[in-house]
Amino acid sequence: MHSRIQLLSLDFDGTLVSRAGEPVLDAQCMELIRELQDAGAIWAINTGRSVDLLESGLADFSFPIRPDFILTEERDVFRPGQNGDKWEAFGDWNERCAREHRELFSSASGVLAEVIDFVTQKTQARVIYEPDGPAGLIANSEEEMNLVTEFIEQARARHPKLDYQRNTVYLRFCHADYHKGAALAELARLIEVPRENIFTAGDHHNDISMLDGKFAAMPSCPANAIGEVKTAVRAAGGYVAEKTHGAGVYEALMHFASR
Ligand SMILES: [Mg+2]
Repeated sequence: MHSRIQLLSLDFDGTLVSRAGEPVLDAQCMELIRELQDAGAIWAINTGRSVDLLESGLADFSFPIRPDFILTEERDVFRPGQNGDKWEAFGDWNERCAREHRELFSSASGVLAEVIDFVTQKTQARVIYEPDGPAGLIANSEEEMNLVTEFIEQARARHPKLDYQRNTVYLRFCHADYHKGAALAELARLIEVPRENIFTAGDHHNDISMLDGKFAAMPSCPANAIGEVKTAVRAAGGYVAEKTHGAGVYEALMHFASR
């Protein structure tokens, strides 16, 4: 298959993978990605999952094909390992990203503490701690998450580099310069694929940075995407599918592959 698509950046949960029921994977979508890979296109999964959680997902859902690259936790860039490891950092991006996050969480500790106070006192949401401090949180409902993000939006006005990635009831604190779009841009720079030849698909808040047209000329979303995502995709001249999950990704790939 000859197409304009040279790089695919696809979200995992809710986009490639249906969490709404069977089938979890769309067979036609898998087959089309395989064909595009055979024709030389590069497939990256761009997810909020960690490397380990993504690997368990690929195994649990019996993926028939392997991604060429993975972009994890909405920020890190990995290529296949050269020394027996499954994946290894691609370039120095992950190192820079980790350093900037350490500096950010230290300089924004006051604002972060206010957010944690609000969350623990006014909501039932659970804060997730990592060795370096609070990493994110899990709310009990999307409504509760709306309350939390409203509070963060006010609090971060005093420290705009402190941002967050939101996916359903999950939230991860992050540096404003690091998100799925930035990780995709770094991968595209390293493998030298221009914006015009990049296809993206995602369904939630944390996908908008790769769907707004800035880093990819062919953004798309499945029908199950939230309203904000559909609006962003339309505004960027992308494709909003009529079908959900993988079937929607297939539809969007066919839309762009044929032109
Ligand atoms: Mg998703």
